[in-house]
Amino acid sequence: MDRLESAIPIDGLAEKAVADIDTAGAGGAIDADAVIIGAGPAGLFQAFELGLLGIKSHIVDTLKHPGGQCAELYPDKPIYDIPALPVCGAQELVDRLLAQIKPFDPQFHLGEEVVELQVRDDGRFDLATAAGTRFIARTVVIAAGLGSFQPRRLGVEGADAFEDRQIHYRVRSASDFHGQRLVIFGGGDSALDWVIDLTGKATSIVQVHRRPEFRAAPASVARMKELVAERRMSYVEGIAAGIRVADGRLTGVTVKRSDGSMADLEADHVLAFFGLHPKLGPIADWGFELEKKAIKVDTAKFQTSVPGVFAIGDINSYPGKKKLILSGFHEAALAAFAIAEHLNPAKKVHLQYTTTSPIMQKRLGVNA
Ligand SMILES: Cc1cc2nc3c(=O)[nH]c(=O)nc-3n(C[C@H](O)[C@H](O)[C@H](O)COP(=O)(O)OP(=O)(O)OC[C@H]3O[C@@H](n4cnc5c(N)ncnc54)[C@H](O)[C@@H]3O)c2cc1C
Repeated sequence: MDRLESAIPIDGLAEKAVADIDTAGAGGAIDADAVIIGAGPAGLFQAFELGLLGIKSHIVDTLKHPGGQCAELYPDKPIYDIPALPVCGAQELVDRLLAQIKPFDPQFHLGEEVVELQVRDDGRFDLATAAGTRFIARTVVIAAGLGSFQPRRLGVEGADAFEDRQIHYRVRSASDFHGQRLVIFGGGDSALDWVIDLTGKATSIVQVHRRPEFRAAPASVARMKELVAERRMSYVEGIAAGIRVADGRLTGVTVKRSDGSMADLEADHVLAFFGLHPKLGPIADWGFELEKKAIKVDTAKFQTSVPGVFAIGDINSYPGKKKLILSGFHEAALAAFAIAEHLNPAKKVHLQYTTTSPIMQKRLGVNA
């Protein structure tokens, strides 16, 4: 079915038709009315606002969990400026948003970074993730916050050349490390979890952490100390100072201990878990007009310079912009109306109240 000539799944179209259309991919690509890049608070609320208007969305995020900065940077901290919630934990806010969008069943694609966004000749958009998922989208909402969360790198000369071969910032397949000599950097939960999991499976493990205090769960730290006492692994307090290479292969790392002395550690693989930080990444190359690493939008539709591509939340820029969760929510509401108009220019989208609109209540599943 040619999407541009078909009835558009806005007000009144049967849910079944939406499902039929949305899964009909061309050449393996997912055919979508709206793809939201970023599952932070703004991206999640965008799925809600679109859902109220009968538009189904796909949400893509580099992180393996929804919530953006709230979930990744400060999940346990309280937020005091969400309307009508005098205090709300950051993860609690994410959980509440997920509960709110549940009736609209947006499809999540987590652990996937959108690396390509291109306008097609037919006005739709080709998107591709690093994991190989492809979309043909009629509209795109960039809700990418401060950028895509990326692992902090080892930061020593020459390390980039070994990334994903012998230096790893995430574990794709744990069995790759069985029977190998490992040096594992970090003092958080990821580092400790892998140290404990791989002890006994790897040939040797040395854990390196820069200070005596650990961010990991106390039980994991206690277990690691037991393993060191049992001589089943080693521990060095220090930081990476360099890598050692022979015949094009990494053979180990040099670590500067806290007392200033140097240690050469042999390794077949180095795993580093220093946490994640947001980086604008591929978005900077998509040709949008940027201002201080943010995408310029208008304040009526929150549309970028490319019709059909919208930007909401921390990623956008306009006169008076404030990077607050509240701002992202407002922007999502207005962008949703603009998206509905873009999808079906012939149909006027009337403002309806959730309190009184039977169709919105039907979509919410509250008057069935
Ligand atoms: C410590 C701290 C405390 C804060 N306290 C408050 C507060 O009290 N009140 C308040 O209003 N605000 C607060 N903020 C700010 C608030 O968290 C942000 O304004 C909000 O998270 C922005 O939401 P967002 O959805 O726009 O972006 P984000 O939360 O940054 O989410 C963006 C998501 O997009 C993903 N992404 C980016 N690029 C790509 C890509 N190419 N492909 C796939 N995914 C991608 C990222 O991985 C990320 O998950 C605080 C921030 C911090 C750091």
